[in-house]
Amino acid sequence: MNLPFDPISARAQDIATKVEAFVREVVIPYESDPRRDHHGAPLDELVYEMRDRAAEAGVLTPHVLPGGDHLTQRETAVVLIRSGLSPLGPLACNTMAPDEGNMYLLGKVGSEALKQRFLQPLIEGRARSAFFMTEPAEDGGAGSDPSMMKTTCALDGNHWVINGRKTFITGAQGAAVGIVMAKAAEGACMFLVDLPDPAIRIEHIPNTIDSSMPGGHATVRIENLRVPADQMLGEAGEGFKYAQIRLSPARLSHCMRWLGCCIRAHEIATDYACRREAFGKTLIDHEGVGFMLAENMIELKQAELMIDWCAGVLDSGSLGTVESSMAKVAVSEALMRIADRCVQVLGGTGVTDRTIVEQVFREVRAFRIYDGPTEVHKWSLAKKIKRDWKHAHAG
Ligand SMILES: Cc1cc2nc3c(=O)[nH]c(=O)nc-3n(C[C@H](O)[C@H](O)[C@H](O)COP(=O)(O)OP(=O)(O)OC[C@H]3O[C@@H](n4cnc5c(N)ncnc54)[C@H](O)[C@@H]3O)c2cc1C
Repeated sequence: MNLPFDPISARAQDIATKVEAFVREVVIPYESDPRRDHHGAPLDELVYEMRDRAAEAGVLTPHVLPGGDHLTQRETAVVLIRSGLSPLGPLACNTMAPDEGNMYLLGKVGSEALKQRFLQPLIEGRARSAFFMTEPAEDGGAGSDPSMMKTTCALDGNHWVINGRKTFITGAQGAAVGIVMAKAAEGACMFLVDLPDPAIRIEHIPNTIDSSMPGGHATVRIENLRVPADQMLGEAGEGFKYAQIRLSPARLSHCMRWLGCCIRAHEIATDYACRREAFGKTLIDHEGVGFMLAENMIELKQAELMIDWCAGVLDSGSLGTVESSMAKVAVSEALMRIADRCVQVLGGTGVTDRTIVEQVFREVRAFRIYDGPTEVHKWSLAKKIKRDWKHAHAG
């Protein structure tokens, strides 16, 4: 892989090189490991075995430095892209969603006591976490529009009592740490909770198009969950502000990991096209195939550049809300096209589980929806365009 294209610190390059070697040499062979649940997601037993090997190789939680400092976002990009070279890579290296975003948020907003108790086990890769925001459409709850949140929290003595239902909660099954969002009279609040808790009951884990995330995406019912007041993250009423802090970097890190996966899918498709023959020549010499691979090459680079640009904006201290919307749409839509071309180049093999290309195709399809569907980002960008126009034409 020829990354990065612009000066990135030697420390990040060094970490990225180690991560790439680890994923290629150690993690990729685990792709055929049968320890999966009935949705095809890796079992925790497999995840923790790979993490032990990542710790031995010095690449566990590689984006958090000893002492707790994070790499910059631009540095994080070169590391996370490489961890994504296998769908199992982020799980092995502990750079996966939702944990990576949850760690970031806790690091930014958590008190020292909360960090010690909830963040430390996540950084050490000993536990998984889940982020509880979305609510079932059938309840009329929060989805694309988080302000529709129906889950409530109310203070009772020195505890908050939470009630409601949540859905698509990645990794809720098997997680040890939860960040739960609920609405109080003051506004949205966030809480840190130990899991499992009998007051949070898993109702259903649907079969989904993707299969990379342990525990799947659960619908849960929260009934009279009592959370000590000191487990509130930050201040009451500030929940949406904290969600904003998590949002841009979490969106961007999805772009990073799935870009890594698409780079690998493109390598597999290229290898096939350079070996396989049809009508007297190798596939790549047929213009229709060569052009598909050329388009992949162009769009992979565009995705990498978009990520680096947005990461630079975040590193400047901006929340990067607009830029991360632009990057999320551009990258997720490009990755979908790239994965589709890889399937096509592989012919029948492309739709089988004999390579990871088929899984990458499924994963990036789901990515066009979570962390904001494409249309919602475009809609909010259009609102900004109108606002700016009005501002420019005021008076
Ligand atoms: C694989 C996966 C993992 C997830 N993990 C988590 C998790 O861990 N925690 C969590 O809290 N949530 C999670 N989610 C939920 C995710 O964030 C929501 O699915 C997403 O916000 C959309 O909400 P919704 O599904 O309710 O869609 P809806 O809000 O019902 O929207 C449906 C569609 O309507 C369109 N639409 C909506 N608003 C507009 C608009 N303003 N303009 C134009 N079109 C619009 C879009 O095309 C959208 O896809 C996950 C989802 C998936 C698929």
